[in-house]
Amino acid sequence: MAEAAGKVSMEKIVSLCQRRGFIFPSSEIYGGLSSCWDYGPLGVELKQNVKQAWWRAVVQERDDMVGLDTSILMHPQTWAASGHLEQFSDPLVECKSCHLRWRADELKDNNCPSCGGELTEPQLFNLMFKTFMGPIETEANVVYLRPETAQGMFVNFDNILNTTRKRLPFGIAQIGKAFRNEITTGNFIFRSREFEQMEIEFFVKPGTDDEWFDYWLEERRNWYINLGIKDQNLQLRQHTSRELAHYAKKCYDIDYQFPMGWSELEGVANRGDFDLVQHASHSGKNLSYHDEETKQHIVPYTIEPSAGVDRSVLAFLCDAYDEEPDKEETRVLLHLHPTLAPIKVAVLPLSRRENLAELSKKVYADLRPCWMVQYDDTQSIGRRYRRQDEIGTPFCVTIDFQSLEDNQVTIRERDSMNQIRVPIAELKRTLTAKFEGEDLFVLPPGGQIWKEGK
Ligand code: ATP
Repeated sequence: MAEAAGKVSMEKIVSLCQRRGFIFPSSEIYGGLSSCWDYGPLGVELKQNVKQAWWRAVVQERDDMVGLDTSILMHPQTWAASGHLEQFSDPLVECKSCHLRWRADELKDNNCPSCGGELTEPQLFNLMFKTFMGPIETEANVVYLRPETAQGMFVNFDNILNTTRKRLPFGIAQIGKAFRNEITTGNFIFRSREFEQMEIEFFVKPGTDDEWFDYWLEERRNWYINLGIKDQNLQLRQHTSRELAHYAKKCYDIDYQFPMGWSELEGVANRGDFDLVQHASHSGKNLSYHDEETKQHIVPYTIEPSAGVDRSVLAFLCDAYDEEPDKEETRVLLHLHPTLAPIKVAVLPLSRRENLAELSKKVYADLRPCWMVQYDDTQSIGRRYRRQDEIGTPFCVTIDFQSLEDNQVTIRERDSMNQIRVPIAELKRTLTAKFEGEDLFVLPPGGQIWKEGK
């Protein structure tokens, strides 16, 4: 039975990720480090593909956006100006019996969720990680690991204006690590203390901000859908005035139906002119924009779509996960969008016999410069197909003994399991067409429909 949308359990995702080398607990041989994760050989490919798809959509394909990569350690004044030193806190309570700590605003009642014990009064706890710059550990040398990438873009606003000649509206995009000393973590990579963000600061003329807000909310929602997330697993949720961050005029969460329930995948905020005004006043630098139409200096408003790389990876995995009956067994498969699939093509010789291996390795070498390709010659062909299905490989190329005679190979498609047979000389061109969305049964010259179904 196919897994109902949004209904796969987190255990199944965690187990698949560990079994197949997507994601491991950090420092596992020492028992792991709570809420930190290592991306394995397949995980790193998936994560890169997510980041590349985002960069392509928001930077490469637009003419109103530029990229940036700023440092994790920033001048401490940044965090005074942004309000993080004062406001970036969660209410922390401690159980008087078992001494476990909890986020007060996430508790259902006033008792410890672990042992039912009495809790202390909430105390505000700043989520920024502190460290020292240089060898002397004094207050004057304190620096913070950035809790968001956003501030790197605001402090470079003037550099971007001066070097790129961009006119309003335009945006800056950045992907990078962020760190938060979260009180409670969990749900696998959903909430960790070290994670990656993909953020946009889009600067607009005041008065056009509502329009741009709606535009970005729609644009970002569509990005997930175009990469295969099911519509019914996404919802938009407006922040109530109580939830609204200190800098925000308006904020919506794009929520995904994760296994533990609806939770934030991305936030889209209208930050008004808060950040540029704050940084101008703390730095003493002019961060305004000269509007050539009105000949006036204005402070732009900012629309910020802020996504988590790790949460996106988790959402894509959960959405793609499926199970189908397969004779006595179960076929587990990831319907990952081909753009995101860690391995694009698997080359599978039917046997290890030397003459077949030689041709198969030639095909493998020929495809590698184009895509991430895996070569697998162990166990039965059926098992090898299942292994590729489980990691979301869109196409398998099978080389059999007939290939030695007719120079043709079989392409097998992951979701339908349909097969076509094509001349080796046409293989690269055929796969390229299939990745661009052409139907599997549009055949190259000399190609033929091979087998349909299982
Ligand atoms: P939450 O309410 O879940 O704590 P947030 O509202 O604090 O999230 P933002 O400050 O809006 O999150 O950060 C933007 C994005 O960064 C989030 O939508 C999420 O995808 C990602 N993110 C934030 N905190 C974490 C975390 N601890 N682990 C993984 N991703 C995170």
